[in-house]
Amino acid sequence: MSNLERHPHETTAGGLATVSPEPVRRLLEAREVPLGGTRAMVVRRTLPHRDLPTVGAWCFADDYGPSDVRGSAGMQVPPHPHTGLQTVTWLLEGEVRHQDSVGSDQRVRPGQLSLMTAGRGITHAETSPADHPPTLRGLQLWVALPDRDRHVAPHFEHHAELPLLSDGGLAATLIVGELAGQRSPATAYTPLVGADVSLAADAVARLPLEPAFEHAVLAVSEGVVVDGEHVAKAAMVYLGCGRRDVALAGGPAGARLLLLGGAPLEEELLMWWNFVGRDHDEIVAFRTEWEAARTGASTRFGSVPRYDGAPLAAPELPTVRLKPRRRPPR
Ligand code: MN
Repeated sequence: MSNLERHPHETTAGGLATVSPEPVRRLLEAREVPLGGTRAMVVRRTLPHRDLPTVGAWCFADDYGPSDVRGSAGMQVPPHPHTGLQTVTWLLEGEVRHQDSVGSDQRVRPGQLSLMTAGRGITHAETSPADHPPTLRGLQLWVALPDRDRHVAPHFEHHAELPLLSDGGLAATLIVGELAGQRSPATAYTPLVGADVSLAADAVARLPLEPAFEHAVLAVSEGVVVDGEHVAKAAMVYLGCGRRDVALAGGPAGARLLLLGGAPLEEELLMWWNFVGRDHDEIVAFRTEWEAARTGASTRFGSVPRYDGAPLAAPELPTVRLKPRRRPPR
């Protein structure tokens, strides 16, 4: 998925959240963001949050669906650009076709990771295949690339096989990074973890964590209990750094959650629309090049072969200068 907001705002509003060096438990509500386009859809966004711009290098988290896509075109996101980030496409139900400007054409299914490294610039489209299943639900996550790697050549990886962990009533798929001695094959540019964790009915478990990382849990279902506290579906709880493990529990119907974490990214970031950059002028330049690319006057972002339709136009920039955000040092 793309950030389809027609009036995206920079992520500077509100107070700056410091990286907590100690374990904390701070509940963050999702905000509902209506995506534009002909098939309007509301997503539940937890990152960036007014009180939490990033968790490790995780900088964007949308939870969408479940949507009944029977007899409809389903997801139809035309070609659009990205810079300075990786997109992590994680489906919970349904199927999506990913096509991009480095020649990828990939069916994405639940339990499989599609990881697109935008680096200096890429274009991709996401559509429901003609024979799609009836329901679509997924998580769209972005990972910011650190300054030293953010201009790498764009590339795409698909991982159908990922490490699986289980311990009593806990079962997890390790999407990115390292957890409990296992390592995901996905390319990561900063120390990171992302895992899809399921808890059986009334299960209680402890998940080991890297104390140098900050962590957060996104409640994918009802019934998520973290550190003894109930986390409403679609909400996030920020856990800070310094934890060797976290206590998780599932309600009577079990629970499903996403663990996100990583080494705190203490760099200035400026996110606007589908771009991650560092300052206003760079974002303006990205936008100008994308608008030129739409007329064939720039090749920076490439184009998506075999896509039948026009690329997305960039929204208008706000009239004020965009300001980057940095997590204040601990
Ligand atoms: Mn996208």
